[in-house]
Amino acid sequence: MAASTSFLLRRSALTLGAFNSFNQLNRIRQIQSSFQPPIRQCTRRAISRVSATHDEEASAKAAATEANTGAPTIFDKIISKEILSTIIYEDEKVLAFRDINPQAPVHVLVIPKLRDGLTELGKAEPRHEDILGHLLHASKIVAEKEGIVDGFRVVINSGASACQSVYHLHLHVLGGRQMKWPPG
Ligand code: AMP
Repeated sequence: MAASTSFLLRRSALTLGAFNSFNQLNRIRQIQSSFQPPIRQCTRRAISRVSATHDEEASAKAAATEANTGAPTIFDKIISKEILSTIIYEDEKVLAFRDINPQAPVHVLVIPKLRDGLTELGKAEPRHEDILGHLLHASKIVAEKEGIVDGFRVVINSGASACQSVYHLHLHVLGGRQMKWPPG
């Protein structure tokens, strides 16, 4: 009897856990779709080495026109902790958190807390030198924390033709598997 009660309790805890994460994921998707039009497929494919199709390129370009306006992005809600993320590293200038759609066993995004016009790397100006260096160094700290400092990749997608989907500069820190070259 005691064993079956404990089994039932364990089972409802598991179900509740799954339900909560399911709800949370759905909430993130709802917020995300209000920020980003049709571009996630492009991102996923670009990193998983499948060539972007003309459709994907066109939708990325359309998204860039709409998104690269300086409007808030999903990352603002992650910075303000309105949306939960798994934070790997944080200091006064940058935040590093796990990518929601990982393309490798380790996939962490490193972003500046203050965007200051850096919707994409292509918008960088001399005044951004400090934060750009800081982001790279933070990427190395992330790689150390994740145990991949001996071999990892840092990717920045800048603009529609690189399939950028969130217009707040971010570095992808990828590792934990053998990387291939050239990337897609
Ligand atoms: P990019 O295509 O280079 O602009 O990369 C944007 C990245 O942000 C993608 O890899 C997405 O999976 C990731 N992303 C979008 N929304 C979230 C989120 N709520 N939490 C974590 N990562 C996210």
